[in-house]
Amino acid sequence: MPQFHGGMRRFPGLVELITNFTQWFSKQSTSRRIGIGVGIYLLMTLTAYVFYGDNACAVAVDGKVIAVVDNEKNAKRTLGELVKFKSDQVNRNVYIGEKFSYKGVRVKKDEILEQEVLKRILEGTLSFNTEVAAIAVNGEPKIFLKQNDDAQKLLDWLESVYSGEPGEQVEFKEKVELITSPASIDELIDIEAAKELVLYGTSKSRQYTVKEGDTFWDIAAAFKIDLEQLQSFNPNLDFESLSTGQVLRISQGAPLINVIATRQVTVDEEIPFKVEIKEDDSLFSGEKKVIREGVPGQRIVTYRITRENGLETGREVCEQNIICEPLDEIMVKGSQTMLASRGGTARLNWPCAGSVSSSFGMRGGRMHQGIDLSAGYGSPITSSAGGTIIFAGWEGGYGKMVEVSHGGGLVTRYAHLSSTSVSTGQHVDRGQLLGLAGATGRATGPHLHFEVIINGQQRNPINYLP
Ligand SMILES: [Zn+2]
Repeated sequence: MPQFHGGMRRFPGLVELITNFTQWFSKQSTSRRIGIGVGIYLLMTLTAYVFYGDNACAVAVDGKVIAVVDNEKNAKRTLGELVKFKSDQVNRNVYIGEKFSYKGVRVKKDEILEQEVLKRILEGTLSFNTEVAAIAVNGEPKIFLKQNDDAQKLLDWLESVYSGEPGEQVEFKEKVELITSPASIDELIDIEAAKELVLYGTSKSRQYTVKEGDTFWDIAAAFKIDLEQLQSFNPNLDFESLSTGQVLRISQGAPLINVIATRQVTVDEEIPFKVEIKEDDSLFSGEKKVIREGVPGQRIVTYRITRENGLETGREVCEQNIICEPLDEIMVKGSQTMLASRGGTARLNWPCAGSVSSSFGMRGGRMHQGIDLSAGYGSPITSSAGGTIIFAGWEGGYGKMVEVSHGGGLVTRYAHLSSTSVSTGQHVDRGQLLGLAGATGRATGPHLHFEVIINGQQRNPINYLP
């Protein structure tokens, strides 16, 4: 064994010592030999322990070492202090969700952490849980309250925030339950934060201050939400009057719990009448005439009104007692257009009682664009058909003049009036007074100058009169 001898040569004294010890040991009795052997064994174990044994404790959380400290007892004490601190903080018993294990290890002295450092590491690693009063929405715990009696307070508040109408029954759209649930103490919120969460679906709602010129539509569009959402986020706001400086709640979330309020209301109300329109080819298309006035009916009706988050979403009739039925209005509307009038039955009425004193066509080298009807000064001039006044006033040689449009491109013109009794835009019926005969404009004496114009072209009025 040359290597052994080579190694031993470095410790010649040790070789001599072992040789001497072996010689001395072989001369001892058996019982002494055993005693000496045990003694040596113990000495070696102690030496090994001092130089190579555990000098610290590794703390593991769910099997993973998170820190090395001086010993297990101190680590447990630190953990105990931390749990007590957390419990005091939330004023309830806190327990740790993770599993702990401790293991003796040997590390360099400077790798052993102080208890304060261990405490900080534990605080960042562990989940501190507790049993709390929670609100479950559709079976899922959503809101964990710091104070147990706040859960019921929150639901009571939510019922009251949207209901304001007397006799309203309030319920939640979602299945809402008060439960006891384990929760991380970080999830615990106070009632004010819980109100936010329920109303806006997030505790990160924003505020918006109304500026000059803002409308609800602008604000809703700017935040990409619809008007209903904006209104439900601001239940106590009067949407009819928006004023500068008003503060609105804005959230991109949806309410966590929706409040459905229903009530029954009995009212005495009118039943609106329908309008029945009949076509009549004896009238021009611009003419219409009510031949029977409608009369509203009357009923006592009980509605069931549903509001969701303060906004009416449904109204159904539960019961009604009709006091009187409405009477439909009957209206006739012209179907005749002048272009097709040759074969039609539509006719213009004579605008006044007088006879034709000058006819349509060439007259003294000039075109006479209408007919002249003899009419005494101040005699009534009436509309030849129903229609809309498109001109009433002074027009050069025509003097005081009225023009009526009857639809389908047909216009009638009444000139030289002494006065007019209609105004532009007004609807007139067939035979309704337009003004009084006169001699205004280029006229030698009182008479009516009457024109029929179709699509801007004067035609002989005689062809359209009975
Ligand atoms: Zn004339």
